[in-house]
Formats: sequence, structure tokens, C-alpha cells
Amino acid sequence: MTLEKSQLNELHWLMEMLHNIDVGLVVLDKEFTIQIFNGFMENHSGLLPREVKGQLIFELFEEIPQDWFTRKAESVFLLKNKAFTIWEQRPYLFKFDSYRPVTGSAEFMYQNTTFIPLLSSTGEVSHLCLLVYDVTDNAVHKQSLKKANEELAILSQTDGLTKLFNRTHWEQCLLAEHKRWSRSQHSSSLVIIDIDHFKNVNDSYGHIVGDEVIRHLSGLIRHHVRETDVCGRYGGEEFAILLSDTPLKNAYIFAERLRKEVAEATVTYNDIDITYTISVGVAEVDESITSHEAWIECADGAMYRSKETGRNKTSLHPKQTR
Ligand code: GH3
Ligand code: MG
Ligand code: MG
Repeated sequence: MTLEKSQLNELHWLMEMLHNIDVGLVVLDKEFTIQIFNGFMENHSGLLPREVKGQLIFELFEEIPQDWFTRKAESVFLLKNKAFTIWEQRPYLFKFDSYRPVTGSAEFMYQNTTFIPLLSSTGEVSHLCLLVYDVTDNAVHKQSLKKANEELAILSQTDGLTKLFNRTHWEQCLLAEHKRWSRSQHSSSLVIIDIDHFKNVNDSYGHIVGDEVIRHLSGLIRHHVRETDVCGRYGGEEFAILLSDTPLKNAYIFAERLRKEVAEATVTYNDIDITYTISVGVAEVDESITSHEAWIECADGAMYRSKETGRNKTSLHPKQTR
């Protein structure tokens, strides 16, 4: 084989490989008309190389933002440096369907791209080559991992029975609120609730019915609070609600409304009708309450006052009046 023939062969193989490689390859001139369009691009766009040759890329692929693309490409022409896009910032350049069986759940093909300046023999950049990588598997995997982590984070803050915040997370919120109060001195109140004679419910009807009562109360709490309020299951049949931007007077009104609704409600479980009541304590944060723990003690103390003075009641922190 002559040297010329072997070089021709190599060139032919090279072209064949570029056409069949599993990466998109597009060559553009300075006017952004397409000069080369490989098999990957053909397969995913449904357009033949001879159909696209000489056409403006923006007319064939309207999803490409022209201003952004032009700016990016011009810096490649000018600086003779490569440029990149990654799917986290720009999910795709060409909107192709995702057809992979493993990643069938993706709506489109996620892509990373590289812009390569093509130097002519005179050292000028007259063309650029776009490489398009299908990174759908990676993107879908990363996104599902992120979603799982977010779900896990929520789960670790949530009480299983009531779906309210668990004690640990709720206390962190209270700590943050106390710190916020130290800076801004806005009014903020804490409500602590304990079910009256709950042992009797368990003893008379069993734990499953007891759980149902706990769930019932958490449902009522959820129904009464605003989105900015922070509700937690503090212990077995004890709940704590942080009412932000709420003075004592309004917190008392809230607590009384909830207490009365509980007293009037009936929980029905397998033909058993159960009525129950709650004792409530309320404390608004003030200068004398120097930590979130002290705040809990004040509201808890008020709740025990309700217990001692007959239950099914709302009491305020003794040093505070409406
Ligand atoms: P008081 O009016 O003084 O609050 O009386 P009480 O019977 O409610 O008080 P106590 O705190 O002594 O009893 C609470 C009971 O709640 C004891 C415990 O068995 C029960 N308990 C705690 N957690 C759960 C739970 O998740 N499910 C059920 N069913 N019962 C629970
Ligand atoms: Mg209790
Ligand atoms: Mg109780």
C-alpha cells in the first residue's frame, strides 16, 4: 500500500469513527451554519446531514438561546479556548428525547457540551466543533439521590405517628426563634398541650385507640395553625406549638379555640366513641425568659396549673397576664 493510500484509508476510518461515535459532533462556521453533523446527531434529531448542511443552527434547533449561544461561541472564536456547559446549569443544548431503558423516566436527554475552536493552517479560528455528551444516566441518578436525601432529611425531622415535627427538630426551631427574638424583640408565644387522663383511654380501649386519639389531636392542631407556626409532638401525648409573631392575648385565643373544639369532638374507632379533653399552657417570650429551655419551663408550668386547677383549661405563665 502506498503512503498516500494508507493516509487516505486512515482518514476514511477516522470519518467513519466520528460518524458512529456515541457523542454528538457538530461543526459550525462563524455564521453558525452547520458544516458537519454526525450520526449521533442524525439519530437523535431525525435530520440527515445533507438536510442540515449550510443551515443556520438556530433555525433548526429553536431551543438554543441565540444570544447566549452567540456570546459563548464568540469567546471561543476570539480567545481560541474551549468552553463547556454542564447539565446542572443548562440541562440540554439540543432538546432530544431520552430513550434509554434505564433512564426512561427522564423527559429529555441531559447533556454536557464542549465547544472546541478549530484552527486553520494559518492559525485562525474559522470554525468551532460542538461535542454533545448524553449524561442522562448520571443526571437521573444524581437527581434521585438528591430527592432521597431530601426525603430522608424530612423523615428525620418528623414524628411517625402524627407527621408533626419530632421533639429534637421542634426544639431546634424553638432555639432559633428565641435567638430571633433576642435580635428583633417581636412577640412570640409558646403553647404546650397535654391530653387529660390519657392513661384511661389506653386502659379502657387499648393503645391502638389511644394512638387514634393522638392522631386526632394532631389533625386538629394542624387545622388550626398558620403556615408559619411550628408544631411538634413533644412527648407521648404532649404537643408544643410555637406561634411566631403572636402576642400572649392572641395565643390564648388560639389555645381556647383549640381546647373547646377538642372538648366537643368525638373520635370514632370501630364503633367506639371516645371524647377527651386537653390542658393547655401558654407563655410569651419576654426579657425574663433567657433561653429556649426556660421558655418551655414557663409554658409547661402554665400547663400544669391547668391540670392542678381542674384540667380542660388554658392557663398563662403566672408572671404574664392577658
Ligand atoms: P394527666 O391528665 O395528668 O395528663 O393524665 P395522663 O393519664 O394523661 O398522664 P400520664 O402522663 O401519666 O400518662 C400518659 C400516658 O400516655 C402514659 C403512656 O402510656 C401513654 N402514651 C405515651 N405515648 C403514647 C403513644 O404513642 N400511644 C399511646 N396509645 N399511648 C401513649
Ligand atoms: Mg403527659
Ligand atoms: Mg396527659
